[in-house]
Amino acid sequence: MTTPAPAFPNATILGYPRIGRRRELKRAVESFWAGSITAEELERTASELRAATRERLAALGLSRTDSAIPETFSYYDQVLDTAVTVGALPTRFAGLADEHGGVDLAGYFTIARGVGDDAPLEMTKWFDSNYHYLVPEIAPDTEFTLHAERILAEFAEAQAAGFTTRPVVVGPVTFLLLAKAADGAAAGFEPIERLADLVPVYAALLDQLAEAGAEWVQLDEPALVSESIDVDRARVVESVAVAYDALGALERRPAIFVAAPYGSLDDALPALAATPVEAIGLDLVRGGLPGGLDPATAESLAAKTLVAGVVDGHNIWRGDLAAAFDRVTALQHLSSAVAVSTSTSLQHVPHDVADEDELDTRLASWLAFADQKVGQVAVLGRGLVEGRDAIEDELAAASAALADRDGAPGVRVPSVRDRLAGLGEQDFARVGYEERVAAQETLGLPELPTTTIGSFPQTTEIRRARARLVKGELSTAEYTGLMRDEIERVVRLQEDLGLDVLVHGEPERNDMVQYFAELLDGFAVTKHGWVQSYGSRCTRPSILWGDVSRPAPMTVEWSSYAQSLTEQPMKGMLTGPVTILAWSFVRDDQPLGDTARQVALALRDEIADLESAGIRIIQVDEPALRELLPLKRADQPAYLDWSVGSFRLATGGAVPETQVHTHLCYSEFGVVIDAIKNLDADVTSIEAARSRMEVVDDLESSGFDHGIGPGVYDIHSPRVPGVAEVQSLLERAAGAIPATRLWVNPDCGLKTRGYDETVESLRHIVQATRAVRASIASPVPVG
Ligand code: GLN
Ligand code: ZN
Repeated sequence: MTTPAPAFPNATILGYPRIGRRRELKRAVESFWAGSITAEELERTASELRAATRERLAALGLSRTDSAIPETFSYYDQVLDTAVTVGALPTRFAGLADEHGGVDLAGYFTIARGVGDDAPLEMTKWFDSNYHYLVPEIAPDTEFTLHAERILAEFAEAQAAGFTTRPVVVGPVTFLLLAKAADGAAAGFEPIERLADLVPVYAALLDQLAEAGAEWVQLDEPALVSESIDVDRARVVESVAVAYDALGALERRPAIFVAAPYGSLDDALPALAATPVEAIGLDLVRGGLPGGLDPATAESLAAKTLVAGVVDGHNIWRGDLAAAFDRVTALQHLSSAVAVSTSTSLQHVPHDVADEDELDTRLASWLAFADQKVGQVAVLGRGLVEGRDAIEDELAAASAALADRDGAPGVRVPSVRDRLAGLGEQDFARVGYEERVAAQETLGLPELPTTTIGSFPQTTEIRRARARLVKGELSTAEYTGLMRDEIERVVRLQEDLGLDVLVHGEPERNDMVQYFAELLDGFAVTKHGWVQSYGSRCTRPSILWGDVSRPAPMTVEWSSYAQSLTEQPMKGMLTGPVTILAWSFVRDDQPLGDTARQVALALRDEIADLESAGIRIIQVDEPALRELLPLKRADQPAYLDWSVGSFRLATGGAVPETQVHTHLCYSEFGVVIDAIKNLDADVTSIEAARSRMEVVDDLESSGFDHGIGPGVYDIHSPRVPGVAEVQSLLERAAGAIPATRLWVNPDCGLKTRGYDETVESLRHIVQATRAVRASIASPVPVG
């Protein structure tokens, strides 16, 4: 770039929720899938949403014309968007492309959701958030080609409305670091090897953006902060130079802003500083101010705009605005050009506290959702320009809210704190595994027991009944009656299917965390606080603001009713402490471990009550164990210590006869394998179908020796696996895991699926299991 770069805006955000204040995008996308609206109608809704977002952001204080407003709309996922933009389609989807290699909306969704025997892209957690992205598949010969139409159209749409926005794309290094090697690639091939082939496509994109009038482009490079990526760090750092020296050297391009959310850049910072990029975004919430810089790096940074990510994009607390401002000004020692932003995209938080008319007003005054955070960024940006005095009132108001929160009743409850203080080592352990296996023999389970993960499809009738209960149109007794009917249907269905360990189906749960949050003290729930989890799926995290305790049993009536209907063992179903924390917005005024142990004690009491009610198998779901794992290695041991400890505290009181299960939904075991062993659950179910049982090999080599159920049915897709497919997955698992410890189950709960596909899939699972049991049955003794 030859001309001087345009000034970076004083205040910006890295991204904004795209699902819509009332989940308009979710509804439109799902209607399109159902065939009830056309692609044009879906596009119109999306365009209206983008227009509303731009106007809202401008009203909240981001300027219209200086690239302050990022273009972070997505129909499904930003990584998928990037894959489509650079033409990186897996070969099985090559047929979706038009003659130029581009895909239309229907094709785009097919890659996300699969069709027939063509599995969708794998899905995995985005850094340490609860957002899931689609994993690109890159082969040694993937041909990258640019398809910038969508990005250009969105930029032009904003321009026509009088805005100069900032296009946002996942950066080339992160794109490849998050990708997996396509099936059939030679062993040892790493997608990052393709960087030199990919960069020219980004170069062409930047050229077209410049031509369209974009002044700044944001390239998201969060992978640079992560130490949980399976590529040699030296290679990662080197890739920064390869990519950004090349892009920086382009004749015609917008100014480049590289954002690095979710942590500190560490050794990637000098590498990035040495490239010609004009602005670097630092996450000053997770990472500290960069220190110990060598003179060359300090000199390069002084010539760039440093974008201070000081407003936490990942939580909902109003926080300490004065401290945030101090961090911004501290950054001014490194460069005279400093701007304010959120630490991450705001895609992790709901839209607006003002929508929550039923929230306690005192609690509401401690909170900031996306819109409030945009307001905070704007205030801090104004402080940068006009000086601290100009924003003194806003800083003082935030400090007052913080002090109010600190002294409010319920934030610290002495009885909860005393119980925690009295815990000893014995509270965290059960008797040995062998002894438990012997005690649990009376459960009378066959080899390869079949079970499900807990939830059955949440039908429209179930949701309608809950909505009517909330509106007061159904009495609690009527609602309970309907849920009991549903439980009975689910129990009979499982009996008919021939499953071994039954579940009650969780119809009474709106959400596996919110259900408990509503019954525990210390939590609040929101009405419209939805955040995108993946694609069109959203969750509504609860707010964990105070000390946690259990006023009354939470699941015992449902589970014992379900058990009363059948002779088969009924699994009690609880959500574990780590997952309750991970999928809530958690207080930030004490260590997470302390909060987790409070939740664990409440669950421990629940387990004791379930045992008294005759429940002999209890599953404590911890699907988020891996997700909360800190990205920096140095932080991991402490995390694994408190997370595993809280699970053990929750389950440590169970008698040997009680079979404790846990469920985890991801397949990259790697770093957490020891933690999973240390949970000491009798049986662990884990996602495995989409990754074709890769997890089984990890397990085999790790010496895991408790019960294990690798999922054989990918419930994230509407596809029904055939008997032969399930059987081959099971045979693969049985080759690695002894039949005495192998369980058979879907990847995850069934609540998002429909009944037709669920019943058919479960029938195939039972059939496949019978076939595998027969083929591995011990030979009949002779004589
Ligand atoms: N028991 C839960 C269910 O089946 C587990 C869901 C999950 O792991 N996310 O819905
Ligand atoms: Zn799961």
